[in-house]
Amino acid sequence: MKIHEYQAKELFKQYGIKVPSSVLCTDRSEIESILKKVKMPCVIKAQVHSGARGKAGGVKLAKDYISAVETANNILGMELKSKQAGMKKVNKILIEDAVDIDKELYLSLTFDRANECIAFIISPLGGMDIEEAAKNSPDKIYTELINENFNPIETIKRLGFNEQINKQIKEIVNALYKLALEKDASLVEINPLVITKNNEVIAIDAKMNFDDNALFRHEDILALKDETEENPFELEAQKDGLNYIKLEGTIGCMVNGAGLAMATMDVIRLAGKDAANFLDVGGGASSEKIEKAFKLLISDKNLEGVFINIFGGILRCDFLAEGVKNAIKTLNVQCPVIVRMEGTNKEKGAEILNESGLKFTVVKDLNEAIEVIRKI
Ligand code: GDP
Ligand code: MN
Repeated sequence: MKIHEYQAKELFKQYGIKVPSSVLCTDRSEIESILKKVKMPCVIKAQVHSGARGKAGGVKLAKDYISAVETANNILGMELKSKQAGMKKVNKILIEDAVDIDKELYLSLTFDRANECIAFIISPLGGMDIEEAAKNSPDKIYTELINENFNPIETIKRLGFNEQINKQIKEIVNALYKLALEKDASLVEINPLVITKNNEVIAIDAKMNFDDNALFRHEDILALKDETEENPFELEAQKDGLNYIKLEGTIGCMVNGAGLAMATMDVIRLAGKDAANFLDVGGGASSEKIEKAFKLLISDKNLEGVFINIFGGILRCDFLAEGVKNAIKTLNVQCPVIVRMEGTNKEKGAEILNESGLKFTVVKDLNEAIEVIRKI
């Protein structure tokens, strides 16, 4: 789960990490009264779940009250287009005291899956071009894999700042590490962490992602969820207990089990197409659940065809067939539907589909599936 910058900054404050003072604004009618109380210059920042807001025009410095009012009115309500997240409507802005920046650093804690630990990453090349920096000067990105006796100071010293700055950075890293562990964060990122002209170290941006599987034990974090930021298809799927992720391709797929779902996406690739989604209906799905999943699948406008690939273990193939048959009947599905079933009651399942009078292609194995999908 992702949260907004202003929410991450509240958590930072609780853990003693310095952030600029700020006010959140969600309504145009409040802009002027808020800005009358804010110190100038200030920074107006779009609050959307997306990186690279600066480049997309969602972060602007305003030098006085008049220009701040204009900028705030422009950003609140705008459609922000970013490379990372597509189009996002800005429903909230953060109005923040501007900071006099001397240097911009990059700092993060993230999972290192290959080494099965948390990695601490710091770089003197922070700011809006960190991706470029990572490509062109990888030697300036310092990474430390965290073990039980984590002390970030040696890595911090590589940046070449004085002791007073190093100490401040160290305190921030330690606080961030505590925050990440206590709240089950999967990512904490400060880009940029700035050194001000007065030699203070302040987080002027804040990004946090959390492990969805741990949210049950963090009511406070779960309460920060902003449903308007979630993909509406994915939100619907969550309500029905389906694991669904929207993708960009044209072949919808419905599968049980995450491993089989990934293998199925490979099969679609082998047929020269791309998956329109990842959809795992789970092991014990009922025919009603299958119907709901199918409804979700075909509400996708890009769809050219659907591939159903089910291993009938706990979920029996005849249940699956009933669910799919009902869905196709009620929803009046026009695109080709290819079904591959293996496991419990697969003959009965195939019979239900073949006798339904509806158009299905029941394939005997994945090789045949590839041939059929290729021709869509
Ligand atoms: P992002 O583009 O979504 O990562 O948004 P950031 O919060 O990182 O802001 C983008 C850039 O705006 C930063 O890298 C800074 O260069 C600049 N910026 C943000 N806040 C301030 C500020 O208080 N003072 C100044 N001078 N620049 C700022
Ligand atoms: Mn940033």
